[in-house]
Amino acid sequence: MMSACPDPLWPSYRAGARLTVDLDAIASNYRYLQTLASGASCAAVVKADAYGLGIERVAPVLENAGATDFFVAHVDEGIRLRSVVSEKARITVLHGPRPGASGDCVRYGLRPVLNSLEQIALWRDEDSRTGALPEAALQVDSGMSRFGLSDADLETLQAEKGLVDGLKVGLVMSHLACADTPDHPANQVQKSRLLQMSARLPSAPLSLSASSGIFLGPDYHLDVVRPGAALYGIAPNRTGPNPLSPVVRLQAHVLQIREILPGEGVGYGLTYQPDRPRRIATVAVGYADGFSRHGAGQGCAWFEDIRLPILGRVSMDSLIVDISDVPEGKLGPDMMVDLIGSRRSVDDVAEAAGTIGYEVLTSLGHRFHREYVGNQETPSKGD
Ligand SMILES: *Cc1c(COP(=O)(O)O)cnc(C)c1O
Repeated sequence: MMSACPDPLWPSYRAGARLTVDLDAIASNYRYLQTLASGASCAAVVKADAYGLGIERVAPVLENAGATDFFVAHVDEGIRLRSVVSEKARITVLHGPRPGASGDCVRYGLRPVLNSLEQIALWRDEDSRTGALPEAALQVDSGMSRFGLSDADLETLQAEKGLVDGLKVGLVMSHLACADTPDHPANQVQKSRLLQMSARLPSAPLSLSASSGIFLGPDYHLDVVRPGAALYGIAPNRTGPNPLSPVVRLQAHVLQIREILPGEGVGYGLTYQPDRPRRIATVAVGYADGFSRHGAGQGCAWFEDIRLPILGRVSMDSLIVDISDVPEGKLGPDMMVDLIGSRRSVDDVAEAAGTIGYEVLTSLGHRFHREYVGNQETPSKGD
């Protein structure tokens, strides 16, 4: 397990909790995925501030591990990314160009995904005006009904050759809706549709799979795979053990300890009422830190190898755990308990809250002290 050395610049009393991000684990997950998809090139998806973990720290680590292709959702994210990766890194903007975006795309070397006829027309107009636009990617809708060109759009493109002629198409992509369910029939259908649809477009490398798709096997790797979640340790599916290395650890301070008796209640709404005496601890992490109020009933923290069930509702800045199983005197105020760590993964936390690891990770708050461990070549001070 990662050993986080406390940063002397951050007295621990200033924040309620500490989020430790293991940069070596991210690099190792990248290498693992690249090996798994060895017939393809492995890109890295770093949208949403690298899934909440800090794009400035995470992207250079991925580049050092061999990534040359990066995906973000917005132009702003691309601009931010450009300042922390090398000039040769290719940055693709998934949401594509909106009116006025082409100047920034050229200036910062961003490759937009053209998802609709409108975006193609927009990009072409800019192309003919400046004559210097970089290449674009094209997305087709192979069945998810979210982004991409439809069959009808492809017919329009075939009828009006002028729309795509001269476009520099560097990638044709689509996205799987059910990749986390390996035997879902939609996977095969979407793949066939991407192959059929791409045959009607200028020839370019093909990309279909994000994290979970990589685990569907080589048939789904095509030319470029685009993992995000798996880089950050999220399980690609719930069908077997998670082969990826855990990346985050969340530890929160104990603020107060008390005994409660039957007849007393705990937290908002007094929804937990003990049937026997309990020793409980108030811990400094709450829903404002991204620790969901849902599913507290199944949730728990850990102290060493002792499970501490969450009691009652999660408050904005705190939650309450049952520490009756911890030998008296072993856990005191100002010590820390683990909310995410070796005994409780991001996916476990998500499951208890009725959501997915992606949402847990991207919601984790920004008032934690963050500590980056590993990757000793760069300074280990975070934001
Ligand atoms: C977010 C996203 C990815 C990465 O997905 P993960 O499931 O996190 O690996 C890849 N492609 C597209 C189009 C995306 O929107």
